[in-house]
Formats: sequence, structure tokens, C-alpha cells
Amino acid sequence: MEFLSDVTVELVRHNAADSDVVWAARVSTAGEQSLEAVHQDPERSRGLINYLMRDRHGSPFEHNSMTFFISAPILVFREFHRHRVGWCLPGDALIPVGPLTNGVNKKIKDIYADWHEGVHDSVGGVRELPSRRHPTTRTVNLDTGLIESARIADVFRSGIKPILKITTVHGKVLRCSPDHALLSRGAWVKAKDLAPADLISAQATVPAGESTGVPGPLREGVRDEEILSVVPDGEEETYDISMPGPWHNFIADGIVVHNSYNEESGRYRELQPVFYVPGRERRLVQQGKPGKYTFVEGDDEQYKLVTEAMEDSYRRSYEAYQEMLKAGIAREVARAVLPVGLFSSMYATCNARSLMHFLSLRTKDERATVPSFPQREIEMVAEKMEAIWAGLMPLTYAAFNAAGRVAP
Ligand SMILES: Cc1cc2nc3c(=O)[nH]c(=O)nc-3n(C[C@H](O)[C@H](O)[C@H](O)COP(=O)(O)OP(=O)(O)OC[C@H]3O[C@@H](n4cnc5c(N)ncnc54)[C@H](O)[C@@H]3O)c2cc1C
Repeated sequence: MEFLSDVTVELVRHNAADSDVVWAARVSTAGEQSLEAVHQDPERSRGLINYLMRDRHGSPFEHNSMTFFISAPILVFREFHRHRVGWCLPGDALIPVGPLTNGVNKKIKDIYADWHEGVHDSVGGVRELPSRRHPTTRTVNLDTGLIESARIADVFRSGIKPILKITTVHGKVLRCSPDHALLSRGAWVKAKDLAPADLISAQATVPAGESTGVPGPLREGVRDEEILSVVPDGEEETYDISMPGPWHNFIADGIVVHNSYNEESGRYRELQPVFYVPGRERRLVQQGKPGKYTFVEGDDEQYKLVTEAMEDSYRRSYEAYQEMLKAGIAREVARAVLPVGLFSSMYATCNARSLMHFLSLRTKDERATVPSFPQREIEMVAEKMEAIWAGLMPLTYAAFNAAGRVAP
């Protein structure tokens, strides 16, 4: 059993620089020539970045991407996942729902409405959708290349975003936000990084044994389709679906797409006994009224109580988890006894605009014109993400602070 007082944040992959902001902004006035700004010295553009930030011209800050690996207690992820930023589909994107053999295509905005506003019953009334009735959709098993049925974990609205229209040579059309990831030659690639002649995975009928070399009956799977064109297609309200592990993908308009958070699965792997215990520097005692809390240090006795009570509780709940697994109980059932202090891990991908929004809410900083009062544990994650981002986009970072840490 391991007890940790700190969180881990690592930058796994990125495509984020101040010059990305500059070329995206200059397309308004310089058209195609703005691409020359990609390799320009962004110092020359400090004034432009400051202006965009101050006047809240937000979209130039979206043309970049950072993927973080985050290891933190589950209580952090419960707050983290409230941020629905980033990688989304317009409302008319068609998602297959229902049984594999007898499903129907439904617009993502209608799935959202059913989920959040209730399903119309047969006499035209509206009733609440029970959470256990999360609809099934399609996910690609990346080991076999075959399409399987999986329940949607969540569907959410992500705000108004620019849209790219991707057309394949076989006539499939996907419209999605530039940051939405598509499967291309086995790797997840952002829509904005795809170009004509690139290959993307699309739904197709394939022999079931293809991946193993032993041909089987025809099954729904995926095949590579060549892209014919990638063009901007306006701006509109966007949506996204969250899928459970291990694959975290779904099919939209016949094309394989990814969702934006990938968290370790307690259904597919045994959870490891790593738990959170606050360090001595974590202020333990809350004072004041809701919305006006301050936190002060606990005394030695309080720290001792917290440490012992947590460690004891963690030990007992993990023993109960193990006992159930040994008795043959499914991991997805047994995990119910594990507390929110259990460590989990995830990949979180975002662009600078969404990161700034996240930082404005999840850090407490004297430079903020709109102060926030985040829980310390998510703030520990946010501070580490901020330090990494500051190194990648120093001019944007300075402009964010100068503008009172308000996301554009
Ligand atoms: C200090 C603190 C305390 C909190 N306490 C609670 C609590 O007690 N209970 C609780 O339930 N939650 C709580 N939250 C969560 C909070 O209400 C938000 O859900 C969370 O911070 C995500 O913020 P967001 O919706 O602005 O971010 P994102 O989902 O990342 O959205 C970014 C921005 O996009 C736009 N946007 C996104 N989706 C929509 C949409 N559907 N419609 C219109 N615009 C959209 C909005 O401008 C939004 O600000 C707390 C958050 C903080 C920081």
C-alpha cells in the first residue's frame, strides 16, 4: 500500500507555441501569407498577442494542443471532468445508437437533449432519463479493428467552436472542431493536422479474422479511407461524447473519433493501492461562510488524526476490494468500496484557451481580477500544468497574467 501527498503532471505531447497564436490571428488580414508567421520570431508579435488577450479575441488561442498525463486522487478528477472544453462535434453529427445489428443513427444534439432534458414518452410527455439507461453506441476495439457495442458514459455541450469539414474519397463527410482527434494509421491525429491524401479510419464491413490473418465472417469494423479535402466550415454549437475505457472512441458520421479525457479504467484492470494523504503543508481547517472560506493550518493532533484515519480507512476498503476479487466478483462491482482518495491517472488534452479558462478557475492567484477559491488538490495539478505551459508559450502566458488571468 502506498500513500502519496503530491500529484504528478507530465507533458506527453504538444504542438503549442506563441507563433501558433500569431498565424491564426493574422489570417484575418494576411490570408494564406499568415502561414509565414509560423516560423517567425514571436517576440515581434508580443503587442498583437497582448491585444488579442485584452480584447478577448479567443479563437487564435485554440490552434495548438497539449496532452498532459495526470496522476491524482479521484476527487481531483471529479472536479476536472466538469471542464467540457475542447474537442467536439456539431449538433447534426450522426451517432449510431442501439443494438449492433439493429441500431439507428441519431444526431448528437438529440442524444444530448434526451440525456439532459428527458425522453419524450409515448403520449408526448417528458420523463427523466434514468442514468442506468445510458444509450449504447459503437466503439472500435483497437486490438481487433472490429466495432463493438459500448455504453456512452456522458454527453455534453461544449460551446460555439470553429468547424472543419473533412471529406473522404468514398464520400464520408465529418464536420468537427479542429482539435477533435481522428484515428490515422493507428495514431490519434487532430483534425487540423490532417490534409488531403492522409488516411483516416472509417466504418466498413470487413472479414472478422483480418487482424489475426484467419479470415472469418463479415463483421462491422474499420478500414483506412483517404481524405479528399479538409476545409473550414463556419462556427457552431458543438457537443462531445465521453466513452468508457479501454478504447475511448466512438463513431461519428461513419468515422472513428476520440474523446478528450482518458482515465484509467476500474472495469478493465485491478486498481492499485495508492492513496492520497495530505502533506503537512496542506491547510486542514476551514473557516468562514460558503463562498468566503479560508483555510488555516491544523495543529499536530489534527494532522495525526487525518493521517491515521485516512490510512486506516484506505487499508480496510482495499482489503474488502481484494476479498471480493478473490471471491470472483467483477472488478467493476468490487471497486464500489474504494474511496475518492484512491489515485487514478488520465490523459487530458486541451488548447491554450481552454487551459487559461481552467487555470482561472482552478488556481488562486493575486494577479486574477476575478478571484477563485479552488480545492487545494486540483490547484496542485493546475499549478504544475501552468508551469509547463508557461515554458511552451511564454508571451501568451505573460499576456494572460497581464490581462488579470481572464481567459480570452
Ligand atoms: C471554486 C469552484 C467551486 C465549484 N463548486 C461547485 C459545486 O459546488 N457544485 C458543482 O456542481 N460544481 C462546482 N464547480 C464546478 C463549476 O460549476 C463548473 O462546472 C466548472 O468549473 C467548469 O467550468 P465551465 O463550465 O466554465 O468550464 P468548461 O466546461 O470548460 O466550459 C468553458 C466555457 O465554455 C462555455 N460553455 C461550455 N459549455 C457550455 C454550455 N453547455 N452552454 C453554454 N456555454 C458553455 C462557457 O463559457 C464556459 O465557461 C465549482 C468550480 C469551482 C472553480
